[in-house]
Amino acid sequence: KSFQELNLREELLRGLATMSFAKPSKIQERALPLLLKNPAQNLIGQSQSGTGKTAAFVLNMLSRVDLDNKAPQCIVLAPTRELAKQIAGVAKIMGVFLEPLGLQIAEAVPQSVPRGAQLEGQVVVGTPGTTMDMIKRRQLDVRSIKVLTLDEADNMLDLQGMGDQCQRVKNLLPKQVQVVLFSATFPEDVLAFATRFAPNANQITL
Ligand code: AMP
Repeated sequence: KSFQELNLREELLRGLATMSFAKPSKIQERALPLLLKNPAQNLIGQSQSGTGKTAAFVLNMLSRVDLDNKAPQCIVLAPTRELAKQIAGVAKIMGVFLEPLGLQIAEAVPQSVPRGAQLEGQVVVGTPGTTMDMIKRRQLDVRSIKVLTLDEADNMLDLQGMGDQCQRVKNLLPKQVQVVLFSATFPEDVLAFATRFAPNANQITL
């Protein structure tokens, strides 16, 4: 399978070409057809880091954003600020040809916006705690959010209270949000969390 066959918009195919991604990795080939289905369905994916899952969930979000709407539409939660920044960086490169059409990527990290100001961007990448704070302070408008992605769910659940914070973020989002959850491993507690967090999800195990 090629990226062309996955029905990605032309700007994303050009973005992938600049990154020299010749063809989809295994996780991308399996996840993208499920992720891009309409109406949107939830997905739980098991995949080691280094297998290309970032591109899979970034391509889903960049395919789903409505660029005529400036409001935040997708949130990605990651366990560390460094990983959040990396994901935002991938989204910026992959979406470079959507920028002239209005795409903005935002990072929900401390001090990323002045007090009282709004976080601007259709795709928001952050850690659970800071994202939650920004929603509570009304700096992150969640009314148009349609995709919630959790990366490294297993690592996130190892950290004190992060699972609860992810749950609190989700509780504040519109009910019909698409939930996408990736984890490298699924020990019992992570699997229990995942199936509650992403109900009726398609599941992929590599
Ligand atoms: P990830 O598992 O998302 O952290 O990605 C691991 C590495 O694989 C990153 O350096 C990506 O740039 C690279 N990568 C992801 N998808 C592809 C692809 N389809 N073709 C070539 N490299 C890729």
